[in-house]
Amino acid sequence: MRFAIGEFAHETNTFCPGFTELDAFQSSCWHEGDEIFSRKRWVRNDLGGMIDAEERLGVELVPILATTTQRSATVSKHAYETIRNTLFIRLQSAGPLDAICLALHGAGSADGIEAMEGVFLAELRALVGVEISVIVSLDLHGNTTAEMIEHSTAAFYYHSYPHIDSYDRGAEIIEVAARILKGEIRPVKHLLRLLITIPPTTTFSGPAKIIYERCFEWESTQVCSIATLRTVSRRPTSR
Ligand SMILES: [Zn+2]
Repeated sequence: MRFAIGEFAHETNTFCPGFTELDAFQSSCWHEGDEIFSRKRWVRNDLGGMIDAEERLGVELVPILATTTQRSATVSKHAYETIRNTLFIRLQSAGPLDAICLALHGAGSADGIEAMEGVFLAELRALVGVEISVIVSLDLHGNTTAEMIEHSTAAFYYHSYPHIDSYDRGAEIIEVAARILKGEIRPVKHLLRLLITIPPTTTFSGPAKIIYERCFEWESTQVCSIATLRTVSRRPTSR
């Protein structure tokens, strides 16, 4: 089993003037190929979880590109296209792959692209086809679109704010990719928008805690134990 791994994450505040340019990504976090292993191994985040799962599950990971930067203004067209193109070129030269596992955050906007991850995933699907699993981890306050659901095989959101479980979600998407490949599971996706907004506070108390407890309880009673759980905690000033 050979899985590509990577990250393209941005939390965009569309009220910020100007654009987030490529150098913001390059100066904050830009790792290509094996550098992802040396920089992200043992880090308690999505990529650290993916990398730690490699040995445990006996899979081979092919590191592609990992880039992110601080939350900031809309991603410029040049930055978006350069990151996408770098990812795609590396994927095309990665050899045979059984899955593509990416940390995407989910709250990105680029110049002319309101919902960045949906467009990115559609473009990725156009490149790699519909047979290969594309599994993503997302921040729980990202904005899910129908396009993201359509073009990903499965999406796993952080459960907690503060995000103390991003490592677990990273490991989970590798596990799920392996189980899909073995024919043990076949993810089914459904996007349901609830007409509620809860305060953007910690998930360890208040309404978010109650909602998550209900979700975990519900999940434990289902025949299929893999469910994507998400609460809506959208901050009005960022998408
Ligand atoms: Zn977050």
